[in-house]
Order: sequence, then structure tokens, then C-alpha cells
Amino acid sequence: PFVLGIETSCDETAAAIVSADRQVLAHRVLSQIDDHAEFGGVVPEIAARQHISHLDKLLESLMKDADLGFDDLDAIAATTGPGLVGGLMVGVMTAKAISTASGKPFVAVNHLAGHALTVRLVEDVSFPYLLLLVSGGHCQILAVTGVGEFTRLGTTIDDAAGEAFDKTAKLLGLGYPGGPAVEAAAREGRAGRFKLPKPMVGKPGCNFSFSGLKTAVRRLAEECVAVEGVLTIKDRNDICAAFQQTLGDCLIDRLRNAIAMFRETAGSGAFPLVVAGGVAANSYLRGRIEALAEQEGMRFSAPPMSLCTDNGAMIAWAGLERFLVDPAINDMDEAPRPRWPLDDDAKPMVGKGK
Ligand code: ATP
Ligand code: MG
Ligand code: FE
Repeated sequence: PFVLGIETSCDETAAAIVSADRQVLAHRVLSQIDDHAEFGGVVPEIAARQHISHLDKLLESLMKDADLGFDDLDAIAATTGPGLVGGLMVGVMTAKAISTASGKPFVAVNHLAGHALTVRLVEDVSFPYLLLLVSGGHCQILAVTGVGEFTRLGTTIDDAAGEAFDKTAKLLGLGYPGGPAVEAAAREGRAGRFKLPKPMVGKPGCNFSFSGLKTAVRRLAEECVAVEGVLTIKDRNDICAAFQQTLGDCLIDRLRNAIAMFRETAGSGAFPLVVAGGVAANSYLRGRIEALAEQEGMRFSAPPMSLCTDNGAMIAWAGLERFLVDPAINDMDEAPRPRWPLDDDAKPMVGKGK
């Protein structure tokens, strides 16, 4: 089977076609970074307009790349939530129109389920697995026990990990989006020069908190400026290195607890430990988590970097996974859901097709 996936939940207009034998037949990602850069973050109204302007053309060239017509597809998937409602409407409406015209089912995909399942597009990762989902809007640890079956073990009580990267970058004048810029600066810096707080570390459970970290970064930057008059590149790099290392320490501490919680039900086997979402594109953090997996007797897996940040293949794949579980699926009645937590609602959606 072939499934088309459309992603418009934030500031990427993206689409891809994947097959059940794990081929990505075609994929396109149109980033809107330049349209939002001057505002230092995503402007919902601009994002929605850009999706409208570009999605049709993008799909046209995608189908050409794949050398397929809409009739050759077996299902059409679109991110239906969570995300910015304007963008979601554009993607869902377009997918439903193609679905109606071609008579193929529409599959409503949860964006986070897309991040969560992508690793299975490229590797043999079987259920259950423990997932660290770290993205621009989310920071969660989940037990993934099947397609659409998620149990949340922990979440952030304030900022997401990607948000912490983006805010740190903004504070230090590194622009938007911040993740890659902070990672590059950190590579040039010395992590040991500054000490930052590690919220939640050592506490039971596996919730996160990052807003204190961001505040501490601001104070550090102000102190450096007070001493030297400006924030030197060396200061900036050292702050980034400290920030990244500290965030890594927090992730590792929380994951350790999560592994113990996961093992209470899953047992002691060498289960996969998966990291996904935009922040999973960070090589340093990937390395830390891989080392933890080794220590804990888990098997580390992560999507390739290009599939960590938002893309169409992850949505096509999650749609395909649901289609394979339930070939009679049709979500034509589903409307965009700006809020759509994975663990509350993903479960009942399996097999809900008509
Ligand atoms: P969500 O998936 O929660 O709805 P989103 O879709 O906007 O949010 P993603 O595209 O999954 O987020 O990830 C984008 C985030 O990943 C941004 O916050 C960005 O700074 C971060 N990011 C991207 N690359 C890196 C990197 N190399 N290091 C750290 N963070 C990164
Ligand atoms: Mg984005
Ligand atoms: Fe995302």
C-alpha cells in the first residue's frame, strides 16, 4: 500500500508518500523559517497563509516525483492535531478533498504519533518501546505498546526541551530556530565554566521542568555583559555548552527513572529506547542517550536526523501504520484538534473507522 501524508501543523509545509515496504517514494519539506525569522518565532497567521499558498504546488510536484496519481494511493493522511488551527485546517481540508476525489480513505494523524512511530519506518523497532519525545512543543516520556497505544510516564511542567533551546538562542542573539544554532555554539564552548541549575533532577518520577534553566541562562548572560560590556563569542559558546550539558543531565536523570517504571510492566529485556522529535536531531544529546541505553541494557534507536524535525514522511508512515491495523479506517468526520494529547485520545481512535 501507498499512503500520502501531509504536515501543516506548524511552520513546515511538508508531504511525502511512503509504502508498506518502508520506501519513501517522494518527500518535500518547505520551511517557513525565513517568513518568521524577523519575529523571533512562528506567527500563526503567517504560517496558515503560507500553507495555503504552497501546499497545492508542493503536492503536485510530490506526485510527479513519485510518478503516481492520487488513484494509486491507498489512503491519505494529514496531521489533524495538535498544532496551530489555521495550518491544521489547510492540511486536513486538502487531504479530505483528495480523499473525496479519489475515493480513498482519509486518516487523521496525531502529529506526536508521527514523531513517535517514525523510527519504525527506518528500523525494526518492535513494541513495546520506551520513547523520549523531545520537540518544539513537547517533552514527554511514553511507553509505546502498539500503534496508537501510548502511556505517558512523564511530561514537562513548563517549557518543552526545544522551546528551551529556542529561548536560549533568542536570549543569546542566535536567532530562530535555536536548536541547531545552540548546538553549533556549544561545540565551540567549554561546558565546565558555568554551572546551571538542574530542575527536577534527583526527584522521583520523570517529569521535566526547563523554565528555571532559561532564567538562569538569562542571568548568566547579564553577568557576562556586566563584566565585559558585551556578550563575547567565547561567553556565548560557553553558556551554550553549559546549557546543553545541563539539559542533557536532566534528560538522562528523568530517563533513568522512566526506564525503571517501564520495566515494572515490560520486564527486564533489552527493550528499545527511542528518542524522537526535533531535539533528537541534536548529536550531543543523541550520544548521551545512546550511552545511557548501553548502561541500562536497552537498545538505542532514533530516526535519522532529517526525520526528527517535522516532515511529511512521519505523517504518511503513522497513517500507514493505522491503515494496516485497520484497512476499513475512514476519519472523514474528524475535525482539526489544536489540542490532542497522545495518551488520552490516541487509544480509542484505533479501530474507530467505519
Ligand atoms: P511539536 O512536535 O511539539 O508539535 P514542532 O513540530 O514545532 O513541535 P519539531 O519540528 O518536532 O517541533 O522540532 C523543532 C524543535 O527542535 C525546535 O524547538 C528546534 O529548536 C529543535 N531542534 C532542531 N534541531 C535541533 C538540534 N540540533 N538541537 C537541539 N534542538 C533542535
Ligand atoms: Mg517547525
Ligand atoms: Fe513536531
